[in-house]
Amino acid sequence: MEKSVSGEEMIYQGIPASPGIAIAPLHVIARGFGAPEVYVIDENEVEHEQKRFHRAIELTKHQLEELKERLDDLSGDGEQDIFEAHAMMIQDQIMINKVTEAIASRKQNAEYAFYAVMQTFLEAMRRVPDPFLRERTADIEDVAQRVLRNFGFDDEGRHQAPDDHHILVAYDLAPSDTVTMNKRHVLGFATEQGSVNSHTAILARAFGVPAVVGIDNVVLNVMALSPAILDGYAGKLILHPAEETRERYKEMLNQKAKLRSELDARRGALTETVDGRAVTVSANMEFLEEVPLVKRSGAKGIGLYRTEYLLLDGEEMPDENKQAEIYTEVCKELSPHNVIIRTLDAGGDKLPVEPLTDPEPNPFLGWRGIRVSLSRPGMFREQVRAILRASAHGKVAIMFPMISGLSEVWRAKEMVRNCMDELDGEGVAFDAKIPIGAMIEVPAAAICADLLAPEVDFFSIGTNDLIQYTVAVDRVNPHVADLYRPTHPAVIRLIKQTIDAANDNGIWTAICGEMAGDIRLTPLLIGMGVEEFSVGPMQVSTVGQAIRSLSYAECAAMSDQALKHTRSQGIMDLSLELAKDHYPELLD
Ligand code: PEP
Ligand code: MG
Repeated sequence: MEKSVSGEEMIYQGIPASPGIAIAPLHVIARGFGAPEVYVIDENEVEHEQKRFHRAIELTKHQLEELKERLDDLSGDGEQDIFEAHAMMIQDQIMINKVTEAIASRKQNAEYAFYAVMQTFLEAMRRVPDPFLRERTADIEDVAQRVLRNFGFDDEGRHQAPDDHHILVAYDLAPSDTVTMNKRHVLGFATEQGSVNSHTAILARAFGVPAVVGIDNVVLNVMALSPAILDGYAGKLILHPAEETRERYKEMLNQKAKLRSELDARRGALTETVDGRAVTVSANMEFLEEVPLVKRSGAKGIGLYRTEYLLLDGEEMPDENKQAEIYTEVCKELSPHNVIIRTLDAGGDKLPVEPLTDPEPNPFLGWRGIRVSLSRPGMFREQVRAILRASAHGKVAIMFPMISGLSEVWRAKEMVRNCMDELDGEGVAFDAKIPIGAMIEVPAAAICADLLAPEVDFFSIGTNDLIQYTVAVDRVNPHVADLYRPTHPAVIRLIKQTIDAANDNGIWTAICGEMAGDIRLTPLLIGMGVEEFSVGPMQVSTVGQAIRSLSYAECAAMSDQALKHTRSQGIMDLSLELAKDHYPELLD
């Protein structure tokens, strides 16, 4: 993309969701339908493009008239009026003038100028409170797609992303978009929706793609092909950066690359505090594609394998044989390290396990995690059998999500026992001593950790959900992102209570929520006694280095103080102070 649109430097502030810096032109995709190709035109091509636009409008008008006539002949019961309304929409003089002007001022091809004008209009309509008006967006989308087809644009496929490097700007991205996006071309992304703990942000961090979320109205305000810088550390999207800004960021990119290669050089080293407390750093994973990344990261195994991502490839979970094959491959690849496979955690903000007849009023409090598995024993059995079969080929542990009480653990363990009996009867090999763990991510589980601990071999604290349920703040809602505080006194008390109950019962505690990868909080978590940190593959070497720089005794004294503190910020400051003392170079 040698050519770009010009303008003044402008900064949009959002929420930093995945660290890193990207310098590239923007590609904008809005809701509704795919964006056509976008390119910059020369001054002498403006008239030609404007003519192409008028031709596409004329052709569409003609098609709509024909459709109306055909329906007039067939029925005559008023359905044809819709085409008349569509024809009126595309003859709207304001829209026509805007597109004609946009071609001249933006110097963009006709179909993109049309698309951009329509998207701004559609976005504005989607945001009006009047439901009647909002419903009209579908009609406008319909007719706009017809016009786009008449430019010779085939909208069968999804948005046509440019082949060159770019920063993607979108209203929202689903976890599946994050996975399928071409990471060689997408250097970073910015969205209006989302939050730090949304699955899209988690995946961006896993793949090392810089991301900023929660930028108000960004889709409406930016223009494709504008040169930009995405700062995933400070949560900024800088449009038309001045030369000086660009130079500053290039320098920062060089420094970060240097730090990363220093960390990479040490990734095989033991993760032990300076006073000899050994701590495991493992990785969270969602897809088989991440296995090479995890292996390169120096992670000592997988602390959380989110199996619900298998649902992305199809409508339902793969069958037992396919699952056994996948899990076996992962544990063979990671051998001799441990792989903690979490059973399906569908529902809530995750992927649905099956279409619900009635949408749930409160999906986060509804049918998700272990609740889904226990109410679908056939599906649960297939997954448990597949995990057990994989356990014959490496070190595997099984873990249950969303545990809220003892009876769920009993029922889940009963399923494991039944599956073991079946496999025994069939002469199929498995690890009869497979460790069984409970995720502690519902406050009830943390409060009753002393009751749960005798029943399992380990705990894994899922702080993403534990925080949301403890402080009643939706983890993916940008409007309340400020209230989502990992160091809220209630949260750290629950974490401590969980670790103490584990210690009293001789079992170990891991932490696998995003808090584990936040190196400002490593001193606090080490001090409270966390024995395993499971983090995104890109964070493994940084967390490892942070651990190697700390003294357990000093962290434990600080965490005792933190547990008596009254305010989230005060607790954060105490931990950050130690982090700054011991590894200032690692902090952003
Ligand atoms: C958590 O809740 O902290 C967790 C690790 O699980 P997930 O993010 O997949 O809900
Ligand atoms: Mg969770």
